[in-house]
Amino acid sequence: MGQPWVAGSAEGAPARLPLVIPALWAAAVALELAYVLVLGPGPPPLGPLARALQLALAAFQLLNLLGNVGLFLRSDPSIRGVMLAGRGLGQGWAYCYQCQSQVPPRSGHCSACRICILRRDHHCRLLGLCVGFHNYRPFLCLLLHAAGVLLHVSVLLSPALSALLGAHTPLHAATLLLLPWLMLLTGRVSLAQFALVFVTDTCVAGALLCGAGLLFHGMLLLRGQTTWEWARGQHSYDLGPYHNLQAALGPRWALVWFWPFLASPLPGDGISFQTPADGGPVAS
Ligand SMILES: [Zn+2]
Ligand SMILES: [Zn+2]
Repeated sequence: MGQPWVAGSAEGAPARLPLVIPALWAAAVALELAYVLVLGPGPPPLGPLARALQLALAAFQLLNLLGNVGLFLRSDPSIRGVMLAGRGLGQGWAYCYQCQSQVPPRSGHCSACRICILRRDHHCRLLGLCVGFHNYRPFLCLLLHAAGVLLHVSVLLSPALSALLGAHTPLHAATLLLLPWLMLLTGRVSLAQFALVFVTDTCVAGALLCGAGLLFHGMLLLRGQTTWEWARGQHSYDLGPYHNLQAALGPRWALVWFWPFLASPLPGDGISFQTPADGGPVAS
């Protein structure tokens, strides 16, 4: 049975996937944006006030994006270091043979992180870390601001892209938009033209993916479900939209989207959870 536990990983530190690919992509986007804004046709024409507002929006988006990335990566959503002694054996608790520990309801073992995660949602492969009770807020805010930043970059690149596409036939332009690699490999476009189309394509696709993820997790947020519970049709922890928002994002759930460092302490501990049936903790 279980250890008298401060839980720890039986297999050492989590195996985070390298962040090389997203870091390289972010660097490519930043370089292309700088190239287009400085050497290319520049940003869309705007008046002084609109330009100032655009700069303020960019700073706000970047601060929120980087702040939430930092909070997400620094968080430990696992049972590592969590005092579970004497709290097990209640309803919903289970024994994890890999961690050699009793684990609370809604937790789940992650083979990539190699430890059980509190209120496990899913493993984010892009950032190499599980999404769980302690980092759900930065994950959601990250989706929102990543979508915003990528849309903003797409808008800034649009004059250069329009100029490039307008210089070619519609068929050439459509092929370039959809299959930029093919056009590069067949020598139909230069490396600079390819880079512009490729970066813009991935920014638009990334924004759509982040937007879709935000809609999906917004639905889960309002229902009080994890992805795992949604896939199995479980609604055991649905306290109604308002209380679900508070449970996942804290009392300032409406404001956390605007500043990553705003204090909004979570009401629970990731170990016991309120249910609509009893109004009290599932296990303690
Ligand atoms: Zn485990
Ligand atoms: Zn994981």
